[in-house]
Amino acid sequence: MSNQNLAARRSRAVPRGVASATAVYAARAENAEIWDVEGRRYVDFAGGIAVLNVGHRHPKVIKAVRDQLDLYTHTAFQVMPYGPYIELAERLNALAPIEGDAKTIFFTTGAEATENAVKIARAATGRPGVIAFAGGFHGRTLLSSAMTGKVSPYKKGLGPFPGEIYHLPYPSETTGVTLDDTLKALNFLFAADIEPERVAAFIIEPVQGEGGFHQPDPELYRAIDEVRRRHGILLIADEVQTGFARTGRMFGIEYAPVKPDLLTVAKSLAGGFPLAGVIGRAEVMDSVEPGGLGGTYGGSPVALAAAMAVLDVIHEEKLLARADAIGQRLRDRIASYAARNDLVRITGLRGLGAMIAFDIVDSDGRPDGAEAKRVCARALAAGLVLLSCGQFGQAIRILAPLTASDALIDEGLDALRVALKPEAPIASRATPKAEAQ
Ligand code: PMP
Repeated sequence: MSNQNLAARRSRAVPRGVASATAVYAARAENAEIWDVEGRRYVDFAGGIAVLNVGHRHPKVIKAVRDQLDLYTHTAFQVMPYGPYIELAERLNALAPIEGDAKTIFFTTGAEATENAVKIARAATGRPGVIAFAGGFHGRTLLSSAMTGKVSPYKKGLGPFPGEIYHLPYPSETTGVTLDDTLKALNFLFAADIEPERVAAFIIEPVQGEGGFHQPDPELYRAIDEVRRRHGILLIADEVQTGFARTGRMFGIEYAPVKPDLLTVAKSLAGGFPLAGVIGRAEVMDSVEPGGLGGTYGGSPVALAAAMAVLDVIHEEKLLARADAIGQRLRDRIASYAARNDLVRITGLRGLGAMIAFDIVDSDGRPDGAEAKRVCARALAAGLVLLSCGQFGQAIRILAPLTASDALIDEGLDALRVALKPEAPIASRATPKAEAQ
């Protein structure tokens, strides 16, 4: 089986709407390494898009899954419920930064979690409106696409979308939007489109993931909090990408000066198995009548077993501190690359814990998505799986497993340096047009 052969069969068998960041096909993976079908080895700085904070096939996760496979794999929680669902809910309720008593419900994907958080917020408030942010990402189902704040490729030609979803500009240096712009837009929104008394919730990522690893200004949270308290609006923190030690805390929202009413989780929760959840204030979570929430596979026993092992590993292997250490290691080296004049221009090194990104810019300092794409392609050729993100596809993001050794992080950073070598000498390079992702 070759990469080329699979690519040819794929183009005949699979629609192009599902895109892949690399053109090689996985054969096996272990911790922070992946081997393709031709036996080539790659250091994994993508972690299956923030899913593998505890690495590929962590032995404890695999053992927990094997043990569960020997008992039962599916009864449907809605038919005959099971203990692990309750146990993981109890553990998450205790961990989540929710004020007062918390409750948790499980789903399968992040998009399902964000959709259901909206359903719960609507039931709890009796209001329809949801305010999200430009550049935010909340999934690809219709309601979650509606909340996702990026037209191409997520919305173009795919509507109409569910109504009553509004977007505010998101303050960031890349887009040139200031906090003041955002607050003005909120006032305009309340004046022109929807009164605050009809808004159920704000939804915000503690660090925008797909949007480029931008973190909200604490003042934005304070302003949201003030409006929230004044008008009885709920706050949903979408922790699908930031959760489970990635940022150096269990949840990214722990850096914020506010506590959310609802928190959506998925990705690294179950270390490679499909599991998502909504954690929230107990009285808010109980607003939907029995039968209004759920799904056949929501809270799969196999994924729950994996998630329990993930929480143990985060604790036992001290992955919160490890995220900070990996983040520092990445930052130090990337800062040294930014200071060199023989590599493509990089700016805006940022992030929390081991959720690190930087922008590729052209000689005029403008975001350069086309070059970022080339950096990722050169990284793959140098044996590193690397992802881009951001409004113009200009940001390189690092989501390496927190279980990766220093030696492996260094190996990835060496490959990154190779990937940052421009194809043509810096001075003679033409400035390619920024390309949308
Ligand atoms: N929310 C955020 C913040 C995400 O990063 C993602 C996935 N990138 C989602 C929701 C959607 O998750 P899923 O792909 O599992 O539906």
